[in-house]
Amino acid sequence: MSKKYVYLFSEGNANMRELLGGKGANLAEMTNIGLPVPQGFTITTEACTQYYEDGRKISPEIQAEIMEYITKMEGITGKKFGDLENPLLVSVRSGARASMPGMMDTILNLGLNEDVVEVMAKKSGNPRWAWDCYRRFIQMYSDVVMEVGKKYFEQLIDQMKEARGVTQDVELTAEDLKELAGQFKAEYKSKIGTDFPTDPKEQLMGAVQAVFRSWDNPRANVYRRDNDIPYSWGTAVNVQSMAFGNMGDDCGTGVAFTRNPATGEKKLFGEFLTNAQGEDVVAGVRTPMPISQMAEKFPEAFAQFQNVCHLLENHYHDMQDMEFTVENGRLYMLQTRNGKRTPAAALKIACDLVDEGQISEKQAVAMIDPRSLDTLLHPQFDAEVLKKTPVIGSALAASPGAACGKIVFTADDAKAWAERGEKVVLVRLETSPEDIEGMKAAQGILTVRGGMTSHAAVVARGMGTCCVSGCGAIKMDEENKCFELGGKVFHEGDWLSLDGSTGKIYDGAIPTVDASIGGEFGRVMGWADKYRRLKVRTNADTPHDAAQARTFGAEGIGLCRTEHMFFDEDRIPAIREMICSDTVEQREKALAKLEPMQQGDFEGIYEAMEGLPVTIRFLDPPLHEFVPTEEADIEKLAADMGKTVTEIKAIIAGLHEFNPMMGHRGCRLAVTYPEIAAMQTRAVIKAALNVQAKHPDWTMVPEIMIPLVGEVKELKYVKSVVVETADKLIKEAGSDMKYLVGTMIEIPRAALTADEIAKQADFFSFGTNDLTQMTFGFSRDDAGKFLDAYYDRKIYENDPFAKLDQTGVGRLVDMACKLGRKTNPDLHLGICGEHGGDPSSVEFCHRTGLDYVSCSPFRVPIARLAAAQAAIKDAQ
Ligand code: ADP
Ligand code: MG
Ligand code: MG
Repeated sequence: MSKKYVYLFSEGNANMRELLGGKGANLAEMTNIGLPVPQGFTITTEACTQYYEDGRKISPEIQAEIMEYITKMEGITGKKFGDLENPLLVSVRSGARASMPGMMDTILNLGLNEDVVEVMAKKSGNPRWAWDCYRRFIQMYSDVVMEVGKKYFEQLIDQMKEARGVTQDVELTAEDLKELAGQFKAEYKSKIGTDFPTDPKEQLMGAVQAVFRSWDNPRANVYRRDNDIPYSWGTAVNVQSMAFGNMGDDCGTGVAFTRNPATGEKKLFGEFLTNAQGEDVVAGVRTPMPISQMAEKFPEAFAQFQNVCHLLENHYHDMQDMEFTVENGRLYMLQTRNGKRTPAAALKIACDLVDEGQISEKQAVAMIDPRSLDTLLHPQFDAEVLKKTPVIGSALAASPGAACGKIVFTADDAKAWAERGEKVVLVRLETSPEDIEGMKAAQGILTVRGGMTSHAAVVARGMGTCCVSGCGAIKMDEENKCFELGGKVFHEGDWLSLDGSTGKIYDGAIPTVDASIGGEFGRVMGWADKYRRLKVRTNADTPHDAAQARTFGAEGIGLCRTEHMFFDEDRIPAIREMICSDTVEQREKALAKLEPMQQGDFEGIYEAMEGLPVTIRFLDPPLHEFVPTEEADIEKLAADMGKTVTEIKAIIAGLHEFNPMMGHRGCRLAVTYPEIAAMQTRAVIKAALNVQAKHPDWTMVPEIMIPLVGEVKELKYVKSVVVETADKLIKEAGSDMKYLVGTMIEIPRAALTADEIAKQADFFSFGTNDLTQMTFGFSRDDAGKFLDAYYDRKIYENDPFAKLDQTGVGRLVDMACKLGRKTNPDLHLGICGEHGGDPSSVEFCHRTGLDYVSCSPFRVPIARLAAAQAAIKDAQ
């Protein structure tokens, strides 16, 4: 039998998400548990994949199968496609495995044409409804299928409203809407060149094809990249018979969450609009009413809806986000899914569900998106300054967090300004999916229109970006890039502060303070720690960063870069002196000046880490990074060194390299100048001895890491310098302190010969930034220039510097682990590249059997949670 590409809602269930997409699987599940769902069918994600394989065509077999299901649907509903007596109208809705809000497009009222609408108008005695359906259909179909652009249709509606002297769509009469439908069709014809399709079958195939096609639109591609959704998944298409919320005042449509998605509070939260259809509620055309008011308008439907909410939560054991419509007082469920929520709400809901006995601790850990924790760790407004700053306006607290930046008015400006390092607040009348990149670039978003479920609000919450929406008090002048609020005119570039947790808007910039882990956050992290195997360390170069990371739960330092300490104003002269020295003696003299400073740094870091392991990496960057470029600095250096300016310039010129990343750096420096390694060893060992003496209850075991090793003899040589220096100092101190010497694995040759290298190393730490760079053969500093073209052509779906390339670089890591452990069973293994804080990379590290991941302080909680999720998944 050939593959089945179409399923009735009654044939599916919630576990078929991969095939039916999230929306389809849940429509099927709701059908199964007996909820009132307008019936229909789902065209599978495999049909989408097939569409692309067939050169963006729906094959005749699949088309035939779809029509077969239309016939089944006609049987179920008793209505007929294109029929004049009893026409079947459907919605065509996209639905990927993971929800992608606002990314794909939906068409309502499909099946209408001039003949059908006339009959519908007559038979129903409600011509306004019939024409409203028809004009909506033409509008959506033109926009989605033919990409004519919404703008023109909206202009026509605005003109019509103006001509009739009304402000609301609902005030337009049947006649007005009929006239509009005519105008829309004319618009369509002028743009497309053909008549608007009248054959429902042709309309349907066009719509299905448009949904498939929208999987590959630029917005969808950006969203997928940000959310780790593979291109290969494809989207399903749902064809569903219509429920009409636009038949009059005993009808309406709404969206609701079973709990508050901003705070997590266990209370029904949502919005409702009477005599409306589809996205009217979220589009911000009319201001919807809070869901509680629905109780007064539609007591029966509301009571039933409350039951449904209860049922769905108990069924899915999670907060649900639902869409529904009331048609002549009757409730229809159109969608349910696990609701998007703010990071804070996610933690509260997880804890509440555990307390309610709905889920286990492990399930609570598994349901939190590690990446979302980031925002909770970021600064909040300084409460003292906040109290004293006048509020100039307030609106809906759509997505929490503190934002402070310069005002920009377009998404493009937001992106451009952010790229040059400016903090911006994006102020818009309302946002649309086209704005997504600009929203991402902004610190915060402020909109004039739109409710809690508007596009801006939903997307901002998903991104964890602060958003204040629906500030009707703003008098906006987008044209001239200014607006008026609280009696003041604000221009592009003026500072503005937003509090997404209170909805308050402040004039000027308010300083921010750091966040901390407590309450529900702490509780969930506690569970995570219970279930993870991987240790989590941090990359920190200063006592301040180390202390910060400790508060976030770091269990050590996996990478302490020593060179950052050299850039300090009072140190750089000494390092320059070292570089410009002619003899070993001169170099040692310069190094002797640096030694106490380094030792002091290390003592500070050891103190901050309270006896936890600290890996210190020896000098890594090419020396030319330290030499002066300004004439005045060069002159000063010449004077200090007793050399001429020409001599110094010659030395600097001699440091020039064609390819510094692959030049004289890493352990190559220590091979040329072993005295540098000796000095750094003395600083590490003396610092550790001192701290050990001060804290007898700590067990100090310094870890020295030699960077950029590619050949075992290189490591052996540098190690001999370290060991000789260290052993002598420890012996002199009469101590029995242990220390480790290991290496970074960041050159492919090191990974390939890891069995050899492991004989000389106590530990490996995968430096996956350089390893990625060297394996791909392009540098992370230059890749930005061409990676976009690679994303567009689907050659790469992600930045390999952000998300570990498991196929290539990962294979090297895996191989190095196996080879290394073969010759050195006690070998410690860790990762210290950027990837250490990326959830999917953390999962890879868990599977590969590393001992720890190390990441920047703010990503420590993310790594802890991701490590727990990896362990939980592994155990299943
Ligand atoms: P999205 O994924 O963007 O929410 P949907 O496919 O869920 O897109 O639909 C867009 C809007 O149309 C929603 O408000 C939804 O409730 C409404 N809608 C979809 N199908 C129907 C239908 N069969 N009857 C009535 N309204 C519908
Ligand atoms: Mg939509
Ligand atoms: Mg929806």
